[in-house]
Amino acid sequence: MHVWAVANQKGGVGKTTSTVTLGGLLADQGHRVLLLDLDPHGSLTSYFKYDPDGLQKSAYDLFQQGKKIPEDLPQSLLMDTGHERLKLIPASTALATLERQVSAQGGMGLVISRALALLWNRFDYVLIDSPPVLGLLMINALASAEHLIIPVQTEFLAIKGLERMMRTLQMVTKARKNELPYTVVPTLYDRRTQASVQSLRLLRNSYPDHIWNSMIPVDTKFRDASMAGMPPSMLDPQSRGVHAYNVLLKHLLERQIDHRQRDKRP
Ligand code: ADP
Ligand code: MG
Repeated sequence: MHVWAVANQKGGVGKTTSTVTLGGLLADQGHRVLLLDLDPHGSLTSYFKYDPDGLQKSAYDLFQQGKKIPEDLPQSLLMDTGHERLKLIPASTALATLERQVSAQGGMGLVISRALALLWNRFDYVLIDSPPVLGLLMINALASAEHLIIPVQTEFLAIKGLERMMRTLQMVTKARKNELPYTVVPTLYDRRTQASVQSLRLLRNSYPDHIWNSMIPVDTKFRDASMAGMPPSMLDPQSRGVHAYNVLLKHLLERQIDHRQRDKRP
């Protein structure tokens, strides 16, 4: 099972869109995929027409347990998405009470790692949509991930937000005692605007080793897909946006293989 976290402390940069689109594409390829919503706003949950205010069961239940999560609990939280191989563990607004709790005392920072360990033979990939706040939820997301995807909107203040995310990552990496490989993904790119063109150039200069060498364009099909409540590749597999995410996915899967080969080296 591979766990990827999607995070950036800035909102509106394409985290939820990236989670749904990459998850849908992995499921299209035949993988069993879990989308985990750890953002108390519950955008990913709302995407699939569930109401984060009215849910009986959600990711919050996992944090209600002590150190030992009942073996059948994570499984009981799985919800359908309309795609056969794509499941969702939804967020509920109750998660907000955990968000600003930064202390990861008493093993609370590993709740999600432990929950996912109980699902190891049910899924090939888990994609975590993370909250925009550095707190217990973000720490849980980063602690359980083997790769971090950082969507960054190509606009003027993008770099500032990204710098904050890098400081968070450094802090968490120290606690994990091993590195968390990450990929910066330029999003909402509009080549007609100076803001997009210049900020992409700045991003590439600032993060040459970690930036994906292409970008996700602005594409209104993403809004249509979210209105329809289905992964974008189900609505329109030929759209520009889906095509770009497909190229990104290929890059991420290749990096995954690179890392495994590197780890095997004596
Ligand atoms: P975040 O999760 O980081 O807050 P979202 O994925 O919810 O960001 O995206 C914010 C808004 O922008 C949503 O309305 C979404 O549909 C839209 N959006 C995201 N990516 C794109 C894109 N590439 N083209 C057009 N609209 C997009
Ligand atoms: Mg979101």
